[in-house]
Amino acid sequence: MQATCYMCGAAATSSEHAPPKCFFPEANLTGHDLRRNLITVPSCDLHNAAKSKDDEYLRAIILLAAGASSEVAKAHFFDKLLRAVKRTPHVHAAFIKPVGLKLDIGEMLEIDLARFNRCISAIATAIFFHKYGIKLERSLHVISPNLYAQNQASVEVPAPHLAAIDVTRTFLAHETTGGENPAVFMYRARYDSEGGLYAFAAVFYEAFEVFCATQRASSAA
Ligand SMILES: [Zn+2]
Repeated sequence: MQATCYMCGAAATSSEHAPPKCFFPEANLTGHDLRRNLITVPSCDLHNAAKSKDDEYLRAIILLAAGASSEVAKAHFFDKLLRAVKRTPHVHAAFIKPVGLKLDIGEMLEIDLARFNRCISAIATAIFFHKYGIKLERSLHVISPNLYAQNQASVEVPAPHLAAIDVTRTFLAHETTGGENPAVFMYRARYDSEGGLYAFAAVFYEAFEVFCATQRASSAA
């Protein structure tokens, strides 16, 4: 049987890493193999090729936010991201603007939240395909407390988001963790096929958390 794209169900022509391979530093950078058994899913041309700019965007945001507390993220940031910024400063200037998210490094970062959420949704959707072998048919809500919580006192996570995170944590509490390179990426995922509820939580670089859940049937239509 022909493999189908994890995102759109079209015939697959390639495979794609989830999370993107560029998130995982090469061994010569950290002295550890952080590319053990990376997760891949079948993908069509559209959903593979169209994503490479988004992959770099998401990596930039996460490395910037996680760099203060993760040695792996910091090393990867200085190696890959700064080199990329030097190469194409105009491209990166477009998403590293001095407004928006307050970072530990004293800078402000403007986040294109729709784009960020689309990138995280793609990873959660790929993990769903990887784990359950079918395409996720519902759209996902994405919450990342790190986009609010960088500067404890001045930027607070909104209360409804905290409540949603609590619900997701409880739903996932008894799931085993996946991801063989936890210094870069680990996740929990659970699918309740009866209610159509899928939840996904991940930690990037042991510092940056994201939570995803399918929208309720009443609001998904
Ligand atoms: Zn596709």
